[in-house]
Amino acid sequence: MLEADELSPVARKRPALAPKALIHQKFGNQALYRIEEVRQSLENNCPGLALAQQTRSLYRCYLDLPELSVISDALPKKKDAEHAAAKIAIEKLGIQSKVANPTPREAMDELVLRLAGFFTEEFLSSTHPLVGHIKFAFSRVGERFGMIPMSVIATCDTKVNNLCKVINPKAESDPLLVLSLISRAAKMSSSICISYGEFWIWKQGSYPTEFVESVKNLTSESTQKSYVEALFIPCLHDRDVETLTLHFSDSLYYMDEIAQKLHVRDPSRILVSRTVGKASSEIRLYFSAPDVPFLTSDSSTEVPMIEGNVNLDKILNERASYLSGQCIYGNAIMAHVGYTWKSSNLFFEDIWLSTYYRMILGKLPDGHYKLSREAILSAELPAIYTTRSNWKGPTPRDLLCVFCRQHRLLEPLFSIKALDHTEISVESCEIQRESKLSRSADEVEKVNGDKSDPIRRELGRSISAFQCEVKILSKRQDPVFKCSFDDTCRKECDAIQSAALKVLSCFNKYFKQPDMPIEKFFELENGHSIAVYSKEFIQELVKCPSIYDIQRKNKCSGLHISSNQRSTQYENGVSCRIDGPDSGIFPSPGSVICISYVVVLMEKDTTLKEVLESKDAFEFEIGTGAVISELESCVSQLTVNQSAKFVVEVPSRDLIFTAAGQAATHLSQLSLHDCFLEYSVKLLHVTEPLEDRIEQALFSPPLSKQRVEFAVGYINQLHATSLVDFGCGSGSLLDSLLDHTTTLEKVAGVDISRKSLIRAAKILHLKLSANLSRQKSLKSTILFDGSITDFDSRLREFDIGTCLEVIEHMEEDQACLFGDVVLSFFCPGVLIVSTPNFEYNPILQRSSMPGREDTEDKPTSSKFRNHDHKFEWTRQQFQHWANNLAVRHNYSVEFSGVGGSADIEPGFASQIAVFKRASNLFQKQCLRTEPSELYEVIWEWSAHSSPL
Ligand code: SAH
Ligand code: MG
Repeated sequence: MLEADELSPVARKRPALAPKALIHQKFGNQALYRIEEVRQSLENNCPGLALAQQTRSLYRCYLDLPELSVISDALPKKKDAEHAAAKIAIEKLGIQSKVANPTPREAMDELVLRLAGFFTEEFLSSTHPLVGHIKFAFSRVGERFGMIPMSVIATCDTKVNNLCKVINPKAESDPLLVLSLISRAAKMSSSICISYGEFWIWKQGSYPTEFVESVKNLTSESTQKSYVEALFIPCLHDRDVETLTLHFSDSLYYMDEIAQKLHVRDPSRILVSRTVGKASSEIRLYFSAPDVPFLTSDSSTEVPMIEGNVNLDKILNERASYLSGQCIYGNAIMAHVGYTWKSSNLFFEDIWLSTYYRMILGKLPDGHYKLSREAILSAELPAIYTTRSNWKGPTPRDLLCVFCRQHRLLEPLFSIKALDHTEISVESCEIQRESKLSRSADEVEKVNGDKSDPIRRELGRSISAFQCEVKILSKRQDPVFKCSFDDTCRKECDAIQSAALKVLSCFNKYFKQPDMPIEKFFELENGHSIAVYSKEFIQELVKCPSIYDIQRKNKCSGLHISSNQRSTQYENGVSCRIDGPDSGIFPSPGSVICISYVVVLMEKDTTLKEVLESKDAFEFEIGTGAVISELESCVSQLTVNQSAKFVVEVPSRDLIFTAAGQAATHLSQLSLHDCFLEYSVKLLHVTEPLEDRIEQALFSPPLSKQRVEFAVGYINQLHATSLVDFGCGSGSLLDSLLDHTTTLEKVAGVDISRKSLIRAAKILHLKLSANLSRQKSLKSTILFDGSITDFDSRLREFDIGTCLEVIEHMEEDQACLFGDVVLSFFCPGVLIVSTPNFEYNPILQRSSMPGREDTEDKPTSSKFRNHDHKFEWTRQQFQHWANNLAVRHNYSVEFSGVGGSADIEPGFASQIAVFKRASNLFQKQCLRTEPSELYEVIWEWSAHSSPL
């Protein structure tokens, strides 16, 4: 649901947070509070009661943070103890400034004091991470005794960073600027010295010798000689990121080691980025300070010497800068090492190539989705949001929030617009437009005039629709991206999810085609109103477009699977080897399925076999593009319990390394030239689309059966001998017809889904070849692949044409076209067309989840019964369409339906129009055309040629 503060920009300027809230904001559930009860004996002021031992309970709170543990005083209330602990932590970490909103000048004064505080004797007895560095400095011999690199101050102390940002907001993205501000502050303090040209900082005057000795003694037991795996991120793009080992020990300062690895003589010239990756990790980027003079004596808050320096752009390390959101120059080292509040020992952890690649992937619009589903090679950000219950993984809204956070943008703002019900559907077909005008007027009247009728009221409500606008602002509150979408949702929360997904998909396309100029790119997104503030957008989001270049200029020339190709590839399918018997349970668009799979990297002519990804149970909705096209196409050919294998070209090296985990290091030695991926998949389970489930659960016999019975009624009545099923799908009607005894001799089916046709062929073939058909008169059965909006003369003038639940799967103009083509060229004696009655939906939706009126999962969320539906018509809309057609083509038409009743509002669940060719007297002229055979025969059976 929408919270008020997300709508109003004013509300974002929150008042100061309570200590616990502030800690929560920074550490989330990594902050662990533990309460301990302390019994305290009360001071006995009453001498008369000397013997009665009185106690009261007090509470002490232990707060454990990733960086620090603190203990509060004992206080009477648990809550107060927690806040007290949080407050201590905030104070120590310097998360919040003492002055609420300091001016740059006040911040500079506070910075001077803060710095001076680091070089006092008391400070060395604290647990501040900087202490580790200072202690190390005591073991230096010679002229650098007691000196620390200035850059470690900024890495160890949040408060220093925050103050620098107040002094100059650009410090946020520029470690060099932070250094220049620290050095300026240091110069203003009489108790600190800094070196010129280099970036050392130390205490003015010396610590007492005994003090230094005692501090040194404390440290001498601790660290043994150690090493840690780190990464080298070259500035030049044509060089891969590599692993590297850092050594350190009691006598080898880690900053010295890093300097050496970067070939920098003076370790104080090493600059350090903010932490990257997961919040509270100590992973940082280390790089050499570019050679620019920045120490100006000028005390103004601007530092013009750094800005506008053209040379710096050339040595910008784009990959490293992109990861940290800061300016990083030259070669960089990424390492997980440093001092923490937790212990005075150096903390370090290995990082791997995949750590780096996962970080990069995590910043892409679809990256967090892939990572959180743990399906880097298989999952894709779905193209559509159907219902909350069908969506797997983090919701689009959460994904967009993570994306914004990752790119240091403010949380996205969603605003909801409720539309008057007369505005909802967007008509694409001429006839419709007329009908809509007439409809809207009476409907308003009906809804308003008859409030006592519960169904009317329900309808009035059901037609209400929501649109969502999304706004993304930078940290400085400048607009970056704004859009609103034309389509509507029946529920506010769905409007938000669906809009968030569209924004992500939009970004995703852009991120994958970075060469395209930004204006051009968003021009393509017509139909929606999108405003991209290109300067801000590029600045905030696409600091490193060439990262995607690298992915595309893949060294192994592997293909980059583009998401827009998916839908077209889907039907054609990959070739896969299928194992196991056909169980008859198969996925269709709108089903949620569960699979298990393994992805193995293999190399031609070698024994290389590296498992890159595997899942025991992975759920997704068919038809939404939630997995790579090859995988979707493969599982679409399976029935439950069948398994299959197929191979695809290797995707980009980067993606392989991301998925490979620790194996990435040795894989990076290979060329991957002759490699491919082998997928092994098993279909475990299919949950049918909601539409089917409702039809089966609510109607007895199920609506689909009732439609068949309806058609059979006409066949018998007419003594029909030929029937064509337009949009036969997987053959449910044709299959059921075989269970009846009729006069039919010739039966045909047409569909555009090859996959469905193949399934239909299998089922019909089984029944006919096993002689299970009760249609003894049947002479031939044929299935065609083709569109029912095209004419094929082989299907002309059949006795009966059926088109059940098909037109709503086509765009409205196509449905109109089909009407014209079928009645003017195919000219069946009788045409039966069924389609959902939109007005019936509230009843279906209400009863599909009894007792769960207003839960999030309630399936009222989708506007239509099935997300593949392009429209669902009211009775009036349907009748308008049908009447219009009938008149123009000299047919009569009658209306009927199945599920419900014509006389009880809101009519049938599935409405049916029966068209009849005009009687002989006014012989309808079927347009004679040249024979045209546009359809492809998929399967054919005939009584004579059938074996036996
Ligand atoms: N009539 C079937 C299937 C309904 S599902 C039944 O009642 O079970 C809708 C079907 O329409 C799908 O199989 C889809 O592939 C098909 N379809 C959609 N547009 C089509 C077109 N232009 N030409 C032929 N078939 C189409
Ligand atoms: Mg349908």
